[in-house]
Amino acid sequence: MKQRLSLILPVALVAAMIPLAIGQKDGKPQGKNADKIAPSLPEKAFAESKKKRKLLVFSRTNGFRHGSIPTGLTAVRMMGEKTGAFEAILSDDLGNFESDRINEFDAILFLNTTGDPFFEKGKPDAQARSERLQKNLQDFVKSGKGFAGFHSATDTLKPRGDSIPEYSKMINGAFDGHPWGGGSNVTIAVEKGQEKHPIVAHLKGGSMSFKEEIYQLRDPYDSSKVQMLLRLDLEKSDKKGLKRTDRDYGVGWVRKWGEGRVFYCSLGHNDAMYWHPDVLKIYLGGLQYALGDFDVPSK
Ligand SMILES: [Zn+2]
Repeated sequence: MKQRLSLILPVALVAAMIPLAIGQKDGKPQGKNADKIAPSLPEKAFAESKKKRKLLVFSRTNGFRHGSIPTGLTAVRMMGEKTGAFEAILSDDLGNFESDRINEFDAILFLNTTGDPFFEKGKPDAQARSERLQKNLQDFVKSGKGFAGFHSATDTLKPRGDSIPEYSKMINGAFDGHPWGGGSNVTIAVEKGQEKHPIVAHLKGGSMSFKEEIYQLRDPYDSSKVQMLLRLDLEKSDKKGLKRTDRDYGVGWVRKWGEGRVFYCSLGHNDAMYWHPDVLKIYLGGLQYALGDFDVPSK
């Protein structure tokens, strides 16, 4: 009996701890679509964290607001909890971008932000504050921290006339319509030559096909300046209203920015992206690169 208990107890303890570890309450995962996300999460981190990592997840919008934001927030939080790669701080508090607070974080994720998310309408110093926070974000990344953007992060702080915000250069491009709406059948392929890149290696050089909204980007988009990882397969995707004559439709990449690191993936419009196992792995790899723990080839 004694021997049996010594076997049963550790198992019971571990079983009791698992729900806590992946954000469950009363045995059920918490958050929008958490029940769909839970079984699709990556089993483990790509790399061990060099220290306890804090990821600020920011989803403030000033314009269109995606219905998939609550699902995306749930997925990122659960991914951090399950893999231990980071603690996700879900907050739209602009105070986090002030110079006395921003350095608490290792990386910042813009999850479906739109417009100028730093602009608070009706406040007399709104423009000056936005410019200050944009500069703080630049200083943060260039000093050696990380930035990541999902989907409409490129529909954020876009160029106006001749004025190109540093943000737009950093993320590499600005939203220029989506010839492929959320109900379009699209195929996303690994960039040729990048089949073994650690962030996409799980796709084994293949592709992913699903329904998703895919962006067309305009200047300062330049796919030669980033380590392209994923690209729309135009031959295998519905097509209409294409503006780019160069047929250059990048979907995911990493790049260096000053001393820091940037990851962008244009997937994330449809809720289902956040429980697609292969997409979640790409997000995790990109986030760990941005956080400074996953040393992968970049430009
Ligand atoms: Zn969208």
